[in-house]
Amino acid sequence: MELSAPALRRNMIRVRELVGSDVGILPVVKADGYGLGVAEVVAALEPCEPWGYAIETVAEGRRLRSLGVRRPALILAPVPPGEVEAAVAAELRLAISSIEALERVNEAAAALAREAIIHVEIDTGIGRAGFDWRQVGHWGPEVDRLTNGRVRWEGVYSHFFSASDVESNAMDIQGDRFKEALRGLSGQRDGRWIEHICNSPGLLRRPDLGLGLVRPGIFIYGGRTWPGLPEPEPVVRVRARVVLVREVPDGTTLGYGATYRARGKERWATLGIGYGDGIPRALGNGGAALVQGRRVPIIGRISMGVTVVDITELPESSVKSGDEVTIVGEDGSEHISLEEVARISGSISHEVLTRLSPRLPRVWL
Ligand SMILES: *Cc1c(COP(=O)(O)O)cnc(C)c1O
Repeated sequence: MELSAPALRRNMIRVRELVGSDVGILPVVKADGYGLGVAEVVAALEPCEPWGYAIETVAEGRRLRSLGVRRPALILAPVPPGEVEAAVAAELRLAISSIEALERVNEAAAALAREAIIHVEIDTGIGRAGFDWRQVGHWGPEVDRLTNGRVRWEGVYSHFFSASDVESNAMDIQGDRFKEALRGLSGQRDGRWIEHICNSPGLLRRPDLGLGLVRPGIFIYGGRTWPGLPEPEPVVRVRARVVLVREVPDGTTLGYGATYRARGKERWATLGIGYGDGIPRALGNGGAALVQGRRVPIIGRISMGVTVVDITELPESSVKSGDEVTIVGEDGSEHISLEEVARISGSISHEVLTRLSPRLPRVWL
């Protein structure tokens, strides 16, 4: 895995240009920085002075603290009851979706005799977490009451469920619901909190909804959201080495299940990479790799540590063991994007990145 810190940083600068200088940026570094390696991601982003970092678990927040990150760190998911105190102790901001959870934060803050900071999540349609946007009148005053002591109510946010589907108007509907909920809350605290709703596709499509903060994830890691929207620079390349080249006779079967059979004499190259490295198994008999700047098909099922490509179309003896092959990224004028890999494997670029396993060395450029 070859990673470009300058490209990551340029994508972050692009976000800054898109949202303007008044909006804070809260890069999402959950799941080890989308699988790239959170330490290097944070080091690359620090010069851009983000407002803070967003994560999903207490362990991820503690990791940031152990890396010396002092900026705000917001956990964007409900925290299991047993971990609330650890979150407060590590000065992690908590997303709150229920009164019960807020009571626990109060108890933790009292037990530790220190301040706790929360962001209220409003569910405008994603359904997985958040207070119901239609019931602000019920929970708003309760939240207000429970944030008068050691607990500081810093932010209010929501999350889009279809922001990358440009055909859908769900984003506008959710934006309206969010604003309606904020109006319902305006009796509390004179609305003196930070508001945020935009993930990557959200800020690309509706930079006007930037409000106080934006939460870009996939865009800074080089994932495209939708054709026609601004594109990030690629950050990640995945390459493998040819470990064996063979010429096989007609009818030779390949891989588990013998799902591929040579049609005439063929030349095959075995690559030292497989699903154990995080390459989606679904690329078997459907995906491609780049060899010498040319696209060649992945044939047969992908094994844990090896993948085979058909190089019959390439000049004889031109491919040797030790040669580099591109699985994600560019080679000459050809390019295999994260989105292509995601599409063939029935997934999204976020999942493709986060599944690249620790066995693949991360080489930062
Ligand atoms: C993951 C996540 C993001 C970032 O989403 P991208 O599509 O990667 O930009 C933003 N907000 C929340 C709540 C998230 O869970």
